[in-house]
Amino acid sequence: MIEYKRISFKYVVLAFLIAAFLIILLSVDRKNNEAPPIEDVFIEELFKPELERVETSAIHEVKDGENLSIIFEDYRVPLNTVYKILKLDRSNELRNIRPGDEIKFSFLNDEINRIEIKKDILNSIRVDIGEDISIEKIVKEVEKLKSISMGEIQSSFYESGLKANMPDSIIMDFAFIFGWDIDFIFDVRNGDTFSVIYETDYSEGEKISSGDIIFAEFINNGQRYTAQRYFDDELGKQYFDENGKNVKKAFLRAPLDFAYISSHFNPNRMHPILHKIKAHNGVDYAARRNTPIKASGEGVISFAGWKSGYGRTLEIRHGGNISTLYAHLEKFESKIKVGTKVSQGQIIAFVGDSGLATAPHLHYEFRIGDKRTDPVKVELPSAKPIDQSKLEGFKAIVQESKEALKVFDLESNEVAYE
Ligand SMILES: [Zn+2]
Repeated sequence: MIEYKRISFKYVVLAFLIAAFLIILLSVDRKNNEAPPIEDVFIEELFKPELERVETSAIHEVKDGENLSIIFEDYRVPLNTVYKILKLDRSNELRNIRPGDEIKFSFLNDEINRIEIKKDILNSIRVDIGEDISIEKIVKEVEKLKSISMGEIQSSFYESGLKANMPDSIIMDFAFIFGWDIDFIFDVRNGDTFSVIYETDYSEGEKISSGDIIFAEFINNGQRYTAQRYFDDELGKQYFDENGKNVKKAFLRAPLDFAYISSHFNPNRMHPILHKIKAHNGVDYAARRNTPIKASGEGVISFAGWKSGYGRTLEIRHGGNISTLYAHLEKFESKIKVGTKVSQGQIIAFVGDSGLATAPHLHYEFRIGDKRTDPVKVELPSAKPIDQSKLEGFKAIVQESKEALKVFDLESNEVAYE
């Protein structure tokens, strides 16, 4: 049996007083800590004001014939806001919208607060609308990553390149860089191998385009060709082989596109108009009248005028005692006269049939000293090599490229490094 002890009244009063004292002490402590009373917290939760922000947006693609005012009206941009925006747009960057541009309208609680005009993948203009209006040009940052592709030719170079994950533009650039030495239609053999390091441009983690080729190697019919990109102070972007020789030639093989050879170099040819044996000291390219003609190499115009049977004729004096001649011209390019400096590929004249010619064509001669040579067969000199003083640094860059190719994992076939 449990026995209860009697507690005297005196003790009960004492206990009550101690409890009361403790309660007061606790509440004072609370106030010092500034903790809100429980009732207050509860009320705040119940009557918290609605701070909901409703954000919406709409994207508009600019169509033919639309202008900014019409589009702004469609998206309920207040008239005074439109007025302020257009006033700020002093350089007319906003107004110059083109079909295909994307305009994004953003609203906060049904009120316009931002307009973004996307000009292209990298450039946009942002208009922030609040108490004040501001216009800002936004240019996304581009990051260049290096990629590698390599493979063996099984069918055409183009198809083999695609199979090795080479982007289209890189296949084209590759063929262009080595095109001075290799004809990618006729010279390419099954079993030829190719390797290429190239840049890929990324913005915000998204691939935007393929950049330049940095290094390329092609083994064609057992012969090895290399090309390393190099930025030269004087010549700009160039490609040199691993020994510093320019992959470009100092002369174009033919001074015009879209033409075919209608008469070859031939020292014993029967002349079509004069009907007697007369050496044909150049090559004739049949082409449509007014087809542009390019300077085959860098040089200075040394003759511009009429030359009996040749008709309207241009001559260029190049370095190394070489000169080229262009005859039967329809007309010269407007700024071309004796003494004009021309660069390789610059348009100098247009195809015609002036002088003794049966149809529009270009008669083209290539002379070394006084000797006329066959422009189709002559071994063309290379363009300027790398400056001797830069050769050592250049070779170190080539070595880096070769190392990168060596560690490349053929299984994955496309890998970004660095
Ligand atoms: Zn001719």
